[in-house]
Amino acid sequence: MAQKKYLLQENDIPTSWYNVVADMKNKPLPPLHPGTKQPANPEDFYPLFAKELVWQEGNQTDAWIEIPDEVRELYKQWRPTPLVRATGLEKALDTPAHIYFKNESVSPVGSHKLNSALAQAYYCKKEGITNLTTETGAGQWGAAMSYAAKAFGLELAVYMVKVSYEQKPYRRSIMQTFGAQVIASPSMSTKAGKKILTDHPTYGGSLGTAISEAIELALQTPNCKYVLGSVLNHVCLHQTVIGLEAEKQMAMADEYPDIVIGCFGGGSNFSGISMPFLRHKLTEGKPIRLIAAEPASCPKLTRGVFQYDFGDEIGYTPYIPMFTLGHTFAPAHIHAGGLRYHGAGAIVSQLKKDNLVEAVDIEQLDAFKAAELFAQTESIIPAPESSHAIAAAVTEALKAKEEGTAKTTLFNLSGHGLIDMAAYDSYFAGDLVNYSLTEADLHKTIDPLDKLI
Ligand SMILES: *Cc1c(COP(=O)(O)O)cnc(C)c1O
Repeated sequence: MAQKKYLLQENDIPTSWYNVVADMKNKPLPPLHPGTKQPANPEDFYPLFAKELVWQEGNQTDAWIEIPDEVRELYKQWRPTPLVRATGLEKALDTPAHIYFKNESVSPVGSHKLNSALAQAYYCKKEGITNLTTETGAGQWGAAMSYAAKAFGLELAVYMVKVSYEQKPYRRSIMQTFGAQVIASPSMSTKAGKKILTDHPTYGGSLGTAISEAIELALQTPNCKYVLGSVLNHVCLHQTVIGLEAEKQMAMADEYPDIVIGCFGGGSNFSGISMPFLRHKLTEGKPIRLIAAEPASCPKLTRGVFQYDFGDEIGYTPYIPMFTLGHTFAPAHIHAGGLRYHGAGAIVSQLKKDNLVEAVDIEQLDAFKAAELFAQTESIIPAPESSHAIAAAVTEALKAKEEGTAKTTLFNLSGHGLIDMAAYDSYFAGDLVNYSLTEADLHKTIDPLDKLI
């Protein structure tokens, strides 16, 4: 069946990102210095991040932050991205619901991550930085950052979570193609990695560990900054180009979403698609539901605690106010590697606390089942991460069918799964299982947290 697409022109690419914090009544709590446990100063972050990014991170007053021309020019390589009415999926579900998706899989690296990677590389370059370090889980952020670093002539070292390094060799090849150096984490190249490997020699790694390693290398390397692909406020800010375009495209379709859904790792693509719509709820009282779809095996929003916690495993980062499973949480080896992070960013955490966003948890097998249906009806093989958003959209569409309502749902297709076919292979071979986390499991990593709230 022919898809109905809503396409914008180059000059429709937004000229500013939307900073939802300016419109939030309850602002996110401040990050705390890990030593003094007092609110951190912007200067505390300068050794790690470009100054302009630190400014964006703490900005609570400007609702609109201008996108630099250089970044907007590079966005034109694949933006604006299509908005698609998923008529094939609607038909297969026999639902009266209208389902739309924003297709971020069309970027040169196949995911939304490039929206922030290019911005971060730009600000670092502008500040005279020559080297960058970062971490990557499934490899999408590493791939995006490699592309962005190359675009601005910067050197990049990527710590890649070891299980993904082994499970997803092609993402490693993509990073290498764009000229990045890729190291499996935990590694012996940092103190953090050495400590973890000594304690747990067979540890498959986690994003928390890889972040510790990347931060350590950045702090030891002259003229080097660290860049992060999710969680932080400035990353969520850059991703709002997704929702701002979608806002215009939904209007072209003469529709307005009742429900907006994004899968949830640290919160960047969910924030990207949903914050521009949350703006209507905050400033005009529009009754819209925003749903974050997270894996049942890494359920920070649905089962975690709201507490100050570290962004990394070792505790190099400031304390961030977040829904968290504890920074030492080691999630099951699900194939949605991009969703295996222990915490949620400060903005979404505050919004969840204030009941302005909702969260659902999705079992791994349900995500793949939804992915299969989506591929067969919409002709795009989705990333395992994005499949969580699809599964949540399917649930809502079936609910609408039961209720006999023509609800309009918009979800973000954060990436394609063409480099994740090993995961699909495991699914078809019947090797994938659901992981259920017991309360006892959760207590092990949540109970030891400092109680700073
Ligand atoms: C990284 C990634 C995610 C999860 O990260 P968020 O910051 O929560 O968006 C989701 N989908 C894809 C395709 C990714 O690469």
